Amino acid sequence: MAIETPDGYEAFTVETIKNYIAGDALLAARVGGGPDELKTVEVGDGNLNLVFIVEGPAGSLIIKQALPYVRLIGESWPLPLKRSYFEYHTLTRQAAASSDGARVPEIYAYDEANALIAMEYLSDHIILRKGFIQGIAYPRLANDLGLFLAETLFRTSDLHMDTAQKKADVALYSDNVALCDITESLVFTEPYQEAELNQWTSPQLDRLVQALRQDRDVKVAVQVMKERFTTCTQSLLHADFHSGSVMVNQAETRVIDPEFSFYGPMGFDTGALFANYFLAYFSQAGHAQQAGDRDAYQKWLLQTAIDTWATFEARFRELWHSERTGILFPRSLFEDQDDAMGSEQALTRTLRSLFVDTVGFAGTKMIRRLVGLAHVEDMETIEDPDRRARCEANALAMGRELLVSRHQFSSIGQLCDLARSIKNRGVTL
Ligand code: ADP
Ligand code: MG
Repeated sequence: MAIETPDGYEAFTVETIKNYIAGDALLAARVGGGPDELKTVEVGDGNLNLVFIVEGPAGSLIIKQALPYVRLIGESWPLPLKRSYFEYHTLTRQAAASSDGARVPEIYAYDEANALIAMEYLSDHIILRKGFIQGIAYPRLANDLGLFLAETLFRTSDLHMDTAQKKADVALYSDNVALCDITESLVFTEPYQEAELNQWTSPQLDRLVQALRQDRDVKVAVQVMKERFTTCTQSLLHADFHSGSVMVNQAETRVIDPEFSFYGPMGFDTGALFANYFLAYFSQAGHAQQAGDRDAYQKWLLQTAIDTWATFEARFRELWHSERTGILFPRSLFEDQDDAMGSEQALTRTLRSLFVDTVGFAGTKMIRRLVGLAHVEDMETIEDPDRRARCEANALAMGRELLVSRHQFSSIGQLCDLARSIKNRGVTL
């Protein structure tokens, strides 16, 4: 079936992209040389798009181009090219909002007709998830991601933003329907019912998957989280904030790939990150060469989770006091009436609600990566299915507990205690 694409759109290949670059004065100047001097390779390991690395005599860049369908599935699953538009606009907003921590790649150009973004090539960085699998510690990670999340989420919320601008932006991003729909189905619904695209390590996890679908508390809880997702336009989210959307080295942290972005609950981004820390944690037993040789790394992962929240909360508190210029909790009701206590009380309440969302979304995100369509490399690269199933069963138990009991937790430290106790006990298969 041929997919209809708008006039002017062309899906590039490693060959045709060379002429495209040569024909654009700005991009051509950045890489230098004519089309024959360019080296191109397509590296898209993601599920959706083409990603070209272009290297010339003077420099390099990345071209990310949307395809009119889901790459992982094929032309039978069409997907609007406009996701590239949302990705571009979110990259520019996140660049403006984030100051001290992680950054997004520098954006060189955006071509709406070709659904294509030209950006900085992060040649010295690797995808964080791959670092987790190799057991590499990143000393700056917690600080950089904590700051990035606090700044991007606070500064795009009604705590800070101009209300007319915020409402215009909410309207703009409401059109990212197709990508929200993917999340609504694949994250919040299909893992809990029979669905063609679901997959899990079978037969090892069959019993647990059946139990999950019959678990009334789980089904209600996940729909409550879904209601938060669909109805709460709190902040401009990255909305796919997993360890495959972070690129790292020892000195720097970068965030890529916000094509799912829309205005939603802050905890969806923070929760996604914690889900990925814990998925990485439970996968370590599958990567150990000898029993115990990933223990120190597991410790680092839990400490990183604790430190990420500590940085996030500290920065959020700072911004509450220094940049609370929006329509919510106005200073006129608190500080200006000499009511600093009231402001503190409101801040405590806001952080509490954000924390509960974070825990609930973290659980939701863990579960979908174990029994839904899209899994994580952390688990998928464990070759022995019995060993993989043991790691996955433990992660699934944690995911369920976070989702259902999200109101019972009050610190990330408690989540780490839970992770350790599940690991030590081990879920019986
Ligand atoms: P998708 O949306 O299709 O998942 P991503 O944005 O995640 O695509 O990119 C796919 C892969 O391309 C990444 O996992 C990474 O390896 C590589 N990549 C993407 N952007 C960059 C960049 N700016 N610099 C270096 N590599 C990149
Ligand atoms: Mg993507």
